[in-house]
Amino acid sequence: MIRQMIRDFGVREILPHMMEWDEQQVFPVELFRKMGDIGLMGMLVPEDYGGSGLGYAEYVTALVEVSGIDGSVGLSMAAHNSLCTNHILSFGSEEIKQKYLPRLASGEWIGAWGLTEPNTGSDAANMRTVAVRDGNDFILNGSKNFITHGISGNVAVVIARTGEKGDSHGMTAFVVEKGTKGFTSGKKENKLGMRASETAELIFQDCRVPRSQVLGEEGDGFIQSLKILDGGRISIAALSLGMAVGAFEAALKYSKERHQFDRPISSFQGISFKLADMATQIEAARLLTFRAAELKDRSLPVSKESAMAKFFASETAVRVATEGVQIFGGYGYTKDFPAEKYYRDAKLCTIGEGTSEIQKIVIARSVLQ
Ligand SMILES: Cc1cc2nc3c(=O)[nH]c(=O)nc-3n(C[C@H](O)[C@H](O)[C@H](O)COP(=O)(O)OP(=O)(O)OC[C@H]3O[C@@H](n4cnc5c(N)ncnc54)[C@H](O)[C@@H]3O)c2cc1C
Repeated sequence: MIRQMIRDFGVREILPHMMEWDEQQVFPVELFRKMGDIGLMGMLVPEDYGGSGLGYAEYVTALVEVSGIDGSVGLSMAAHNSLCTNHILSFGSEEIKQKYLPRLASGEWIGAWGLTEPNTGSDAANMRTVAVRDGNDFILNGSKNFITHGISGNVAVVIARTGEKGDSHGMTAFVVEKGTKGFTSGKKENKLGMRASETAELIFQDCRVPRSQVLGEEGDGFIQSLKILDGGRISIAALSLGMAVGAFEAALKYSKERHQFDRPISSFQGISFKLADMATQIEAARLLTFRAAELKDRSLPVSKESAMAKFFASETAVRVATEGVQIFGGYGYTKDFPAEKYYRDAKLCTIGEGTSEIQKIVIARSVLQ
């Protein structure tokens, strides 16, 4: 039902506009409101807070479908659901959950999540943004880089240093609303792919945030972020899988229609072996992704499995999208066919929410234990 609903929605609301959004780098805020109406913006949020009350298996199913149509929309859906909204759901006080979750789950508000900084990406724990206690408030100073919905987000979860550098318990997560004095947006990135998903800087200059906006305990922000990323990486695996499937289906169809040497190109072993490799890698990525989703739904440890799913599915998406362009030949290099967009969009997945190298560090640490 989820898959069919999204296919119908995608044909109506995404497909007719997505190339224009991509070319112009338009972040389609209205689309996300409509996605909220059909339950896609609060998938993991319980019904009591206005969400869909679903689990990771359903969430992954939905993300695969959305991303098969447009990776940018999938990326924004993932950042909103499993980073910002899920951080508030997992660690917010009852008051904070009541305040933000219904608006986020309905799509009325768009959420952002800020961990990365200009000088600290993979090494996020070395962040420079600081939050200094002042009575019952904290004063935030610093900036966050590459933040999805950095301009259009109505609310952001922001991780800032409240203790010593190098102390994993020296960071705290805050919920900061757009419009808070001292909180502004900076440069919007001009990107290779995922161009309809807005990526921008968050700037904090003497931004006063009440202590009541802290998520969970002071000092737990980084540890919370690692847990949030365990779930987030399953969503990037799903995003990758969706784009890989989209790229594969387009190439498969084209290979049967395109004739060279009086035969469909699919009849050449050189092309059919590519399709066999692509199909096999996609199935392996699917199994890893749904396995991680299942563990997460059963509240079992998932760090290694989500890193494996993210690593394998993202590298698969890049390989499949690259072969997709090759199967389309010269037409694959033009904007007349979807192959080039999958190729550009897929690359983000080996970088965002931890690069492939960082996933291997997580996996190696686990297997070497
Ligand atoms: C489109 C987009 C959206 C994003 N959205 C968000 C968001 O919403 N919120 C957010 O907080 N962040 C976001 N990010 C940031 C993203 O998570 C980081 O870009 C990513 O974690 C990598 O950090 P970096 O870019 O600083 O690269 P670096 O950490 O500088 O890495 C550069 C290279 O060095 C390698 N490297 C680094 N350390 C090691 C090591 N120890 N061993 C081996 N290799 C290493 C990396 O793998 C990479 O190849 C987004 C990024 C993009 C591009």
